[in-house]
This record gives sequence, C-alpha cells and structure tokens, in this order.
Amino acid sequence: MDAENSSFFNFIIVGAGPAGLTAGIIAARLGFTSIILEKGRLAGPNPRGEGMAHMPIVDEILGEGFLPSIGFKSNGGRVWHSPNDLQITTTYKGYDHYFFEWREFIDRFTEVANDLGVKISFNSTVIEPIEKHGITLGVKYKSMDGQIQEVFGNAVLDCSGFKGVIGKRYGIDYAKMNCPIIKCLISNANFDIKENPDLEFYFIGNGDLGYSLNFPPCVAYFFPLENRRAEVGLMLRMAQVPNMNTVKIPNNEEILRVWNEIKQNYPGFSVFFKNCNIDYEEITSLPNAKMAEKFVPNPGVVLLGDSAGFVNPFGSSGLFYSMEMAKFWVSMITQDLEALIKLNKSKIDINENLWTFNKIEKYTIKFEEQDVYKEVKNMYNLIGAFEYKIFNRLRTSDKINKKWDYIASLLNQA
Ligand SMILES: Cc1cc2nc3c(=O)[nH]c(=O)nc-3n(C[C@H](O)[C@H](O)[C@H](O)COP(=O)(O)OP(=O)(O)OC[C@H]3O[C@@H](n4cnc5c(N)ncnc54)[C@H](O)[C@@H]3O)c2cc1C
Repeated sequence: MDAENSSFFNFIIVGAGPAGLTAGIIAARLGFTSIILEKGRLAGPNPRGEGMAHMPIVDEILGEGFLPSIGFKSNGGRVWHSPNDLQITTTYKGYDHYFFEWREFIDRFTEVANDLGVKISFNSTVIEPIEKHGITLGVKYKSMDGQIQEVFGNAVLDCSGFKGVIGKRYGIDYAKMNCPIIKCLISNANFDIKENPDLEFYFIGNGDLGYSLNFPPCVAYFFPLENRRAEVGLMLRMAQVPNMNTVKIPNNEEILRVWNEIKQNYPGFSVFFKNCNIDYEEITSLPNAKMAEKFVPNPGVVLLGDSAGFVNPFGSSGLFYSMEMAKFWVSMITQDLEALIKLNKSKIDINENLWTFNKIEKYTIKFEEQDVYKEVKNMYNLIGAFEYKIFNRLRTSDKINKKWDYIASLLNQA
C-alpha cells in the first residue's frame, strides 16, 4: 500500500451513475483530479430513472437546454390511484418535469465529464477499500484484463448505487434500506400521452391480491415516454413489513409471478399493457425504506446518491438528489483539501488532516443544514407515517378506500 508512489487522484469515485459523474464533473470544474471506476462497459449500464424535475443543477451539470432537448415536458402532475382503482387524486409539484430515455440522459454526463478530462475507467469493478491507520486511502478493483489493481486518493466516494460496495464493507445495512422494484419498458403501449401526461401510481394493500395474500404492500407505477412508450413497474414498500405479521417477504420468483398477474389483471393499470411489447424487464432495488445512518462510514469515504439512500421515497426519485448531494460534498471537501495542499504536506498527512473526527462531524452537520437534506429527511418521515397509517393500520382495499379523502390530503403534502 503505497499512496505516495501509486496512481493517485484527489477523488476516487466508485460508479458512473448520476452521483459519480456529477462528483467527477464538479471536482474537475474546481480544479481537482478524479478517476471514476465503473464496472459496466458504459456509464449506468442498467437503465434507472427516466423522469425528473427541471431543477437548476440539471442545467449546471448537463448544460442549459439539454433536458428539454431529450424529453417531453409534463407539468409535474402525479395521479394517485386507490386500491382497485376505485378513486383518484391528482397532485401537482409546481415545476416542469421531463420524461426521457435513460441512455440519452446518462451519456450526456459522460460527454461533459470527458470534455473536462475526467478519467473514466470502464469494466473496472471495485472490490474493496484500502485502509491505513483506520483511514481509507484507496480501493482495489478488477480491471478489464482481470488484473487486481490499486488506486489511491484523498477521498473515496462510494457512488455505486443501492448495493454500496464500499458502504457495505463499513457496516451499512442495505437490506434495511432497499426495496425491490421491477423496472419494465414497454412500447406500443395502450395510452394517449395527451390523456396520460403524468406519473401514475396505483396503491396495492397487503391482503388484496387473491393470488398472493401475503405479498407486501406495493405500488404499481406508470411513467409515460414519447411514441407510445412507457416505463412501468412495481415498487414493493418494505418499510412497514417488519411490523406486519401478515406479510411474507417474497423471493424474486414470487415477485415476478405477482407482477405478471398485475400486468394482466390489475384494475386500471393492466389497460396500458393491451397489445404492447415488453422491451425490458428486470427486478432491481431502490433505497426507499431508510437513509444510511452515516454518510461518512469510515474516515476517507463518503456515500453519495443511492449508496447513501439519498432518494425522495415519495415517487422514488433520486436523480436530482444524487446530483445535489454529489455537488455539495465534493465542493465542501475541496475547500479543506485546497487549504491542506497549500501547506505542502505529504499525501498521507493531507488525508489524516482531511478526515479527523472533527472534520467529519463538521461535514455531516453542514450537509444536514442543507435544504435538500431536510427535504429528503422530511419525506422519509412523512412516508414513514403515511405507510404506517395506510399500509399497516388500514392495510386492505376496503379500509384504504373508506379513508381516501384523508389519504388524499396527506398526498398533497408529498
Ligand atoms: C426502476 C427505477 C426507476 C426510477 N425512476 C426514477 C425517476 O423516474 N426519477 C428519479 O429521479 N429517480 C428515479 N429512480 C432513482 C434513480 O435512478 C437513482 O436514485 C439514481 O440513479 C441514483 O444514482 P447513483 O449514481 O447514486 O446510482 P446508480 O444510478 O445506481 O449508479 C451506480 C453506478 O455504479 C456502478 N457500480 C455498481 N457497483 C460497482 C462496483 N463494484 N464497481 C464499479 N462500479 C459499480 C453501476 O454499474 C452504476 O453505473 C429510479 C430507480 C429505479 C431503480
């Protein structure tokens, strides 16, 4: 382990998703070096989010006008369907929302990063952190040729998504944070975008599905794309499950079996599938049950984006939040890093000074003072109370439908 003589970057970024690429772009713009290690052969190899609000950070990172150029605009409406599609409530976010194709979105990050000279190493699977005296100084990764390589830096940013390869090593319990989700892309979908321009969510309570009575509460979703394409799927809501003895945690086979039934029969939702083609379908996960307890699980490591559970669990949106989180932490760390570099210390001395207990506490407090953190925390609290009331206490279609007016008033706060 030789941080002085090996390949060295200010930031070692694990994963080229929105969090990792934003981190690399911000670091480069501030004059710092980084390497992004991505296990796939291209950025974000598996499609994830395909809709987001048009917030200033999108223009800042990807360029003004980029988001409108790849997507179509909705007015931020969200249509919430009660179980069995008996009642509907629509809420509005009050800002422009764009739907787009993941590949076009994520490739733009790569383009911007490349233009700034950020080093991106594809087919590089990070395996574990490298530590000295309790500080993480780098990572080991398997490169394209199968060799195990080491790389060192001032900070390791775990942007590897919901499995958090580095976070897991430092005790982050992703099983408690993640919820299974089915992502499915369909074409020739049975809808007219003029009538369905919004995100649509269908609540399904525990005990409502005759073919799987112990299935966890879940939400089927429909997000329109252009040319009669749509993103559809099923989010399992696991936060209340530990307190619900009528729920059995399903394996992937059971999730797929239920999903197939929902596609064919679920009131309202199954209509979208009539004569459609299924272009993509996978079971993945999303951190929707809780945030990571620490964003710096070990001196030298910061969790960003999904690996930190930094997602708005109402609507499962994480694109904006992962970008904001990455920007904030990189900007904050570089301020101290710049001052330490000016003192002309050795690389190891710099890391020891950058990652003292007091500095970690300072970084964490500063982040927790940000509006974006407060918003995500608030949303987790709100969804906790919401899911307790609806999915745990009321639980079934009959009871949820009887209280729908009250539920609609809660949804207006989300
Ligand atoms: C089905 C689904 C739909 C969603 N819809 C929306 C939406 O409409 N709007 C929205 O805002 N959000 C949505 N989200 C959430 C959003 O996509 C995520 O919050 C966001 O992608 C998080 O970005 P990230 O960079 O933290 O992680 P990711 O996007 O998951 O990127 C992680 C990257 O790390 C790489 N990686 C993983 N392990 C390793 C390793 N060991 N070594 C090297 N690289 C590694 C991966 O290949 C990947 O490229 C959705 C998520 C899912 C799953």
